Amino acid sequence: MNKVRFSVVVPAYNEEAVIKVFHDRLIQVLQDLHEPWELIYINDGSEDQTGLLIERFCAADSCVKCLSFSRNFGHQAAITAGMDHTSGDAVIIIDADLQDPPEVIPRLIDQWRAGYDVVYGRRIARQGESAGKKLSARLYYRLLRRMTSVDIPVDVGDFRLVDRRVSNALSDLPEHNRYVRGLISWLGFRQTYVDYVRAPRYAGTTKYPLKKMIRLAADGITSFSFKPLKMGIGIGVGLSVLSFLFLMFVFIARLFNLVIMEPGYASLMCVILFFFGIILIMLGIIGEYIARIFEEVKNRPLYVIARKTGQFNRSGRCPISFDQGESQ
Ligand code: UDP
Ligand code: MG
Repeated sequence: MNKVRFSVVVPAYNEEAVIKVFHDRLIQVLQDLHEPWELIYINDGSEDQTGLLIERFCAADSCVKCLSFSRNFGHQAAITAGMDHTSGDAVIIIDADLQDPPEVIPRLIDQWRAGYDVVYGRRIARQGESAGKKLSARLYYRLLRRMTSVDIPVDVGDFRLVDRRVSNALSDLPEHNRYVRGLISWLGFRQTYVDYVRAPRYAGTTKYPLKKMIRLAADGITSFSFKPLKMGIGIGVGLSVLSFLFLMFVFIARLFNLVIMEPGYASLMCVILFFFGIILIMLGIIGEYIARIFEEVKNRPLYVIARKTGQFNRSGRCPISFDQGESQ
């Protein structure tokens, strides 16, 4: 059988408490594959010792490489950078906090060997996450599915394996507001999933505070759906019909003196405030889309790499040593 090569992409931001344990567990899994592999860490502007620890891993093993960003560009940019620099036949994306167990990787690979181009990990249970996060994630994924025409799977994060062709196609997409899991669904190809239990974070705290999570959630919806914009039309039409009916009522009541009309300050205020509220919400939604158009038009790079550690050849892709699998 022909040797295949695997690339593993790991975004890491302030993960000093967990990265060593993660690295050891991952390396164990990769060595058990008995195939050549490369491991690319993306140090996403960590302010702690994460960068230093990764440099040590690189020094100890030539198959381990690191891209260090000039500042924090975010999880999705880190994944993108990692994939842009891989050269394996299959690319595996995994978080550094051991929430996605490295031991699931061989199961992803089995499906890939069975002919699938994208194999994502589907969380059948999430351990150690707050009820609020679980509920919001549940609601969000279902909302996203309803809002978008793209078939984005439910309860799936970025833990997945993609074929070289998918990775290349993804690198060719020029979008700046990257919602990687959505883009991969959009690309199509043959997709399947593997169920796994999402473990609690091994150590450290989440690097996705509410603000970042809302931004990612908004990116997910606005990158794949115009429905929020169209909602304005629906609301506008609905309210117009209601106000027309109300007008008819007022007219008839006045004509036949059915109800004595009081000077209605309170009801007037209610209506005005309600309408202003709707208008401002719609303006905000339009603003969100315009901001994203602005981002795209500026056309800045998705990330800036300050330093590369390990063997990267001139094209930016890592050469994978072939002898490694056999030496095990
Ligand atoms: N991460 C990153 N840049 C960021 C935020 C997160 O590279 O700005 C990495 C982080 O180190 C981890 C992965 O993305 O490997 C997922 O983040 P985290 O586990 O904090 O998110 P959660 O699982 O809580 O949603
Ligand atoms: Mg996590």
